[in-house]
Amino acid sequence: MNNFSLAIHGGAGTILKSSMDEQKESGYRNALLNALGAGRSVLQNGGSAIDAVTAAVVSLEDCPLFNAGKGSVFTHEGLHEMDAAVMDGNTRSAGAVAGIRSVKNPVLLAREIMIHSGHVFLAGMGAEDFARNRGLTFEDDSYFHDDFRYQQFQEALQAGKVTLDHTDRKFGTVGAVARDVSGNLAAATSTGGMTNKRYGRVGDTPVIGAGTYASNSTCAISCTGHGEYFLRAVVAYDVSCLMEYKGLSLKEACHKVILEKLAGAGGDGGLIGLDTAGNTMLVFNTEGMYRAWISEANEDCVAIY
Ligand code: ASP
Repeated sequence: MNNFSLAIHGGAGTILKSSMDEQKESGYRNALLNALGAGRSVLQNGGSAIDAVTAAVVSLEDCPLFNAGKGSVFTHEGLHEMDAAVMDGNTRSAGAVAGIRSVKNPVLLAREIMIHSGHVFLAGMGAEDFARNRGLTFEDDSYFHDDFRYQQFQEALQAGKVTLDHTDRKFGTVGAVARDVSGNLAAATSTGGMTNKRYGRVGDTPVIGAGTYASNSTCAISCTGHGEYFLRAVVAYDVSCLMEYKGLSLKEACHKVILEKLAGAGGDGGLIGLDTAGNTMLVFNTEGMYRAWISEANEDCVAIY
């Protein structure tokens, strides 16, 4: 077993090999491997799990292929509203942000909130003021514009639908879980939410215990899927509780929650998880999940279907 562990995801959903060409697929694979590399280099140099998950998620947020940061989907008003969270399993401190615009890397804002705000969860304009005070980078709307996403948005608008990015043609909430050489766990998740969302809709991603959770006594979890189902099922904390109170292994707990409970309730999606021994789980009840992880033999692995 390695003395550190890392897994990342770039969203789960209807990802079919038949709808992917070679070039597109290698674009996703390379982006996932780059993000894994960003997290790996932190861990291998003795850095903390929280720094590793942040580095991996920043790399995914900067990539237009995923529905987070630069690649975020359009809201009903043709804007981008992003959500993110981080949690440190050692201290169980957490930072989360919802409905923010223009902040280049929402995961960095979540981390700043965790460390410097004295709060856990900030939203909207107040969160943006805090980001400005902390000197975070802002981008204008053109940075977040992507023709493919705009097309998705136009289709959703015409159909009068609020679509999950990953049940459409392109997929993408991102997340990472890590265990560092000191045995500390951490999780981070970031998303643009749903195409054509309105009324300040927020999914599971920034809600501690739903889309993101970490505790050194159980596991670190980052989710992706239909947020409304993940919120009601309190997915990430449910996995942790099954381990803590029922003595289930990480694998048993993830299977129970994603393959039995969530699937039974009609909730599509998946999660990545790590336990205190560094065992890694990447589980989904959809056709695919963009994912990458460091194997027990210390190799970089990547998979989609
Ligand atoms: N869980 C995210 C949300 O509902 C979406 C996703 O995972 O792609 O906002």
